[in-house]
Amino acid sequence: MKIANAELIISAAKEHQFPGGVFPELALSGRSNVGKSSFINTVLSRKGLARTSQRPGKTQTLNFYFINDRFHFVDVPGYGYAKVSKKEREAWGRVMEAYFQKREQLKGVVQLIDARHKPTEDDVMMYDWLKFHQLPVLIIATKADKVPKGKWSKHIQQIKDVLQAEEEDPVMLFSSETAYGKDRAWKEMTKLLYS
Ligand code: GDP
Repeated sequence: MKIANAELIISAAKEHQFPGGVFPELALSGRSNVGKSSFINTVLSRKGLARTSQRPGKTQTLNFYFINDRFHFVDVPGYGYAKVSKKEREAWGRVMEAYFQKREQLKGVVQLIDARHKPTEDDVMMYDWLKFHQLPVLIIATKADKVPKGKWSKHIQQIKDVLQAEEEDPVMLFSSETAYGKDRAWKEMTKLLYS
């Protein structure tokens, strides 16, 4: 896909800040450090657009990017760290719940998993939660360049098995280092946005 325009339009900490409009959107989710910012920057061909890892303690926000004046990417904060108070965590949980449960524009979720390792308990919990909300999920195994090609299919199978991924949810390899998987990622994301 040719990206003519990509800009961060709002970092929303509360539900009332979610942008209006009818544009379809995809959320991107994954553990901190999985390579989510790199994925966003690679598929959008924008070097510093998505910042790398939000640091613990920083305000958690859903970052809405408006692409080609047609759709949104929503960068969800990386899970897997918990250096915030219980109160903050609960408040944030409500924002996430509101978003994933009610957001009509949300067409699907890109869940990023590190291709080198077995999905973690957090990864499994997130996938189950997304399926509970009946969302289609595209599973992207990141950092493929770190896995020898001869082991690719084994690692993909392991991700499918541990997540108990549904048949209709594709699992594919990606590398921000080499841009491997970029075309397929767009094909799958376009399918989610417009079908
Ligand atoms: P985020 O916390 O999920 O946004 O992860 P980042 O995009 O900041 O990436 C975390 C680290 O992994 C950084 O040091 C990146 O350079 C590295 N990284 C991200 N994607 C890849 C990849 O495809 N291949 C390799 N080798 N490293 C990657």
